[in-house]
Amino acid sequence: MMTAISQNLTAIQTHIAEAALTAGRAPDEVQLVAVSKTIAAEDIRRAIESGVTVLGENYIQEARAKFEQLSTLPAAWHFIGHLQTNKAKYAVRQFDLIHTVDSSRVAKAINREAAKIDKIQQILIQVNISKEETKAGIETEKVAELAEEIVHLDHLKLKGLMTMPPFFNAPEKVRPFFRRLRETRDQLRQRNLPGVDLAELSMGMTGDFEVAIAEGATLVRIGTAIFGERA
Ligand SMILES: *Cc1c(COP(=O)(O)O)cnc(C)c1O
Repeated sequence: MMTAISQNLTAIQTHIAEAALTAGRAPDEVQLVAVSKTIAAEDIRRAIESGVTVLGENYIQEARAKFEQLSTLPAAWHFIGHLQTNKAKYAVRQFDLIHTVDSSRVAKAINREAAKIDKIQQILIQVNISKEETKAGIETEKVAELAEEIVHLDHLKLKGLMTMPPFFNAPEKVRPFFRRLRETRDQLRQRNLPGVDLAELSMGMTGDFEVAIAEGATLVRIGTAIFGERA
């Protein structure tokens, strides 16, 4: 039986592929992260059975409960919420990629917990491109300094950058923010940090993923278009 989730997923995968081709990119350069915050484990199971391979969760507590039920299924888990240092232990145990490292303090906490279980934790630096005070993320000007520090933390592997722009659902208004994230990444690359390729750009959600893909996104974080409006 085709469920709404599997139909939504097929539609979104088609749109992602089209957006990539329009931008002159290969569709497999863009990975869909299905954002499952507030979504019940049963619906997440359906999404995985329909072909979702990466899930994005925002809250450690909520994710732990779902993970207990779903951890044997073939999906990677990404943490995309604000990480408190006292939750770093759980983030490291459960998540394959943490998108939201925005301070030296958080980086060190993750590194410490990863060392305890002998894991190399993959991370992204979250950048506050728009400098909104309400937004998490480190300022663009401070990204390089944090990246240099992360390189010296043995149990972290920096994979790229992430951002949450303002103006949700106004795609053309967010384009400059996506572009700035890519430029910030390109500038950081010129530092040739050892062992760091910065391949990933996590940007774009339900309302603006096409623009994000045009500007170079490799990870698009999409919830509503797959699971419907959150309650
Ligand atoms: C909720 C959320 C998303 C997904 O938003 P949709 O508009 O439902 O696609 C993406 N990224 C982050 C960080 C989120 O918190």
